[in-house]
Amino acid sequence: MMGGLFSGLVDTLFPSYCICCQSRLPAERRFICSTCFDELPRYEENATYYDVETRLEGYVPYSEYHADLVFTHTNAVRDLIHLIKYRQSPELGRSLVEYFLPGHLEQGHYPDVSIVVPVPLAPKRLRHRGYNQSDFLAAPLAKALGAELMTDAVARRDREPSGTQTARSRRQRWEHMEGIFSVKAPGTFTGRRVLLVDDLLTSGATLIRLAQTIMSDGAESVSYYTLAVDEKS
Ligand SMILES: [Zn+2]
Repeated sequence: MMGGLFSGLVDTLFPSYCICCQSRLPAERRFICSTCFDELPRYEENATYYDVETRLEGYVPYSEYHADLVFTHTNAVRDLIHLIKYRQSPELGRSLVEYFLPGHLEQGHYPDVSIVVPVPLAPKRLRHRGYNQSDFLAAPLAKALGAELMTDAVARRDREPSGTQTARSRRQRWEHMEGIFSVKAPGTFTGRRVLLVDDLLTSGATLIRLAQTIMSDGAESVSYYTLAVDEKS
């Protein structure tokens, strides 16, 4: 890929710097230095404050939810998510999940999951971006769990929002998401335990709508993983 080759060349010619502290990075390291990485706020330690259960409960029963990082509009997690989503660096997402995976496995998270589904992007957005960042997050999870990675089993409709996501109320976002997903080959998820993967949990509306679609297809259970959690909006 031209973009990858070019950025590799740029890295060789120009040293890279930590997105947090601007210190020069050793050659084998990209984006963030080890000191700043160790200081990133972790979800588990802040789970009570972020109160994810109230965002996800009451719509579709789910088995497990886990995340690793906490997103705020001023911390380095925001910069990492931006790199993954908008700056053509989805491999960073894969590396982060690979880094956190042993902890999840040690704690026995997601037992018996047999299918991993990254939240699909709408076709227009996918064409524009060229990749779905969630595919890169889901791949190492599927591999480690011995589950099937399904990046193309669910269709997402192109439906351009009339305003930005943040400008909407929770109720408006919820209604907007209705009927947005569909299973391409009905029966795909029947009797299966499915893990849904996204980069960031905000209102939860996207994950819940996807879970509803997959449960309607006869799935036995759904669980969720997001790399980071945003404040409830
Ligand atoms: Zn740093």
